[in-house]
Amino acid sequence: MKCTLLGEHLSHSLSVPIHEEICRETGYDVTYTLTEIPADRFDEIFPHLLKEYDGFNVTIPYKKTVMPYLDGLSESAAGVGAVNTLVKENGKWIGHNTDVAGFKAMLRLVDPGKKCPCYILGTGGASLAVKQGLKEEGFTDIHFVSRDPAKGETMESLAEHFSGLLINCTPVGMYPKTEGCPVPDDILDRVLERAEGVLDLIYNPEETVLLRRAREKGIPTVNGMIMLKEQAVAAEELWHR
Ligand code: NAP
Repeated sequence: MKCTLLGEHLSHSLSVPIHEEICRETGYDVTYTLTEIPADRFDEIFPHLLKEYDGFNVTIPYKKTVMPYLDGLSESAAGVGAVNTLVKENGKWIGHNTDVAGFKAMLRLVDPGKKCPCYILGTGGASLAVKQGLKEEGFTDIHFVSRDPAKGETMESLAEHFSGLLINCTPVGMYPKTEGCPVPDDILDRVLERAEGVLDLIYNPEETVLLRRAREKGIPTVNGMIMLKEQAVAAEELWHR
């Protein structure tokens, strides 16, 4: 099979080695490449690629852009409102979102009770996949925390009301600005004291300031590497169904 990752800037992508490792382990015969498309040429180039490849992964900024070209969506992709994997099924292109499965793999490592309140930091693309994963796993008490009070709760409200699972879906703390923490220092201890688990979608560095501070308090932590790997495994499984 010939599969590719579509994005605008892919020089830092880990997808090729990850897919090569999956293929070595499973015996899948996939040539996996990176395809950068400039945003102003997407509509011109993408229709040609649909004829050339057997499967796609899609990343920033095209996870919604590809949707008008598709014949259908999986339940997870429809729930998220964005796709990261395209699969040809009976001649039709179907959009899936394997970030949801990737996040569920992170969640399983902490395994909180279904009644556990979940606080998602950030309201971007990844936060929607996380919310869908939580819903599919039966969690109902889900909150967003945002810099924009119209999109979610404020940090003051987090400090006041938080308990349960804290999930960082912002880029704060990511390489190269590794000193950053998405929860301000003046409320961090107060928040962590009531945390049952802390998940951070960031995988570089391996341990963000948020995860380190949580681990030092004895709280279970998981970084984003398992999500990155499992979304790739789920994509390969869909291509080989
Ligand atoms: P995104 O669409 O840019 O959204 C990030 C959100 O974080 C924003 O919507 C914003 O929400 C908040 N935010 C952004 N900059 C911030 C800042 N300086 N301070 C506080 N909040 C900020 O990004 P994304 O695609 O959702 O990805 C988010 C993170 O998850 C990134 O670090 C990415 O690498 C990681 N990720 C990991 C995986 C994985 O497989 N492990 C998969 C996807 C994403 P508000 O405006 O509402 O505050």
